[in-house]
Amino acid sequence: MLPRLGRYIQLTAMSLLLVAVPSRAEDGAPVLLERGKRQLELQISTQFEPAMRHSLQQWVEFIADVLLQVYGHWPRQSWQISVTPVSASSSEPIPWAQVYRNEVDRVEFFITTTATTQELKRAWTGYHELAHLLIPYQGWGDAWFSEGLASYYQYILQARAGILTEQEMWQELYEGYQRGLSDTAFEGRDLRSVSDNMRQEGGFMRVYWSGAWYFLAADARLRQQSRGRHNLDQALAKLNLCCANDPMSAPAMARKLDELNRVLLFQPLFEQVSTSLSIPPFEPIFASLGITVTGGKVRLQSEGPGAMLRRQIVLKTR
Ligand SMILES: [Zn+2]
Repeated sequence: MLPRLGRYIQLTAMSLLLVAVPSRAEDGAPVLLERGKRQLELQISTQFEPAMRHSLQQWVEFIADVLLQVYGHWPRQSWQISVTPVSASSSEPIPWAQVYRNEVDRVEFFITTTATTQELKRAWTGYHELAHLLIPYQGWGDAWFSEGLASYYQYILQARAGILTEQEMWQELYEGYQRGLSDTAFEGRDLRSVSDNMRQEGGFMRVYWSGAWYFLAADARLRQQSRGRHNLDQALAKLNLCCANDPMSAPAMARKLDELNRVLLFQPLFEQVSTSLSIPPFEPIFASLGITVTGGKVRLQSEGPGAMLRRQIVLKTR
C-alpha cells in the first residue's frame, strides 16, 4: 500500500511539474531558490517520502526567508542547504546539524523522518545554524563569538518570524543564560581558554551563553547610545557588505566592526568577555531594556525608554 501511495504522490507531482512548478524537485535534483539576485541550492535526500520532502522544502524556505530579516538579503551570493534523514529516535526534530564555511557556505541538517513542519519551525536549531552565516567566521578559535551570535539570534529570528512572542523570546534568552550560569565546571577559568578546549573538555553552555551575552550587550549599547537609530543588525550588515567573502578571525571581526561603525564597543567588549571568568551579569542589561525577572519568569515593561528600544529588537525591519 505504501509504495502505491508513494507512486501516486509522485505522479501528482509530475503532473504539477508539467504545469510548471519549477521549485518542486521530486527526482532528488537540487532545488534552486532565489531571493533578490541571491541563490540558495537546496538538496533534500530522496530517502524521505515525497510528502515529507515537500514539507521539508516548505520549512527550509520559511527559515531562509526569516534570515532575510537581518540584512534584507542572504549573507552570501550563493549558498546551500542539505537535509538528510536520521533514523535514531530523538525527542528533537533536528538532532544534529553542521555548518560548513567555504567558497560556498553549506548548512547540513539531519532530521528525524517523522518531524512535522510545525515542529521544525519551532526548533531553534534551524535559526541557530543559519545565524552562523551572518558573519564571515571560519572556525579559527574563539568559537564563543560565533556560537554566541547564533545563540542570540536564534530566538530573535523566531520572534521576528512570529514563532515566539516577544515575551517568550526574552524568557528563552533568560533560560539560556541560566543554563550558562549553571555550567560551572570551568568557573574561574577565562572564557577564551574554556572556548578553545570546549570540544575536548565540555563547558558548552558557558561558552555559548557568554557569547550570547556579548551580542546582547553590544546590541543594547548600540541602541541606547544612538537612542534607537543604530543596532546590531546594521552593524553586522556593514561587516557583511565589506567582508562576507573574507575569512576573518573573531578579533579581526571585532576590530572591523568598530572601524566600520565608528564606535569603540566591539573590541573592549571582546576583551572583557574573552577574559571573563564566568558569564557577566545579564540582569543590568535586561533592566535597561525594561525587563524584570521574578521567580524565574520575565516580565516586560510596556512603557519607558528601555521598553521602546527593546520592542525594536523583535520588529521586522525589512
Ligand atoms: Zn552553533
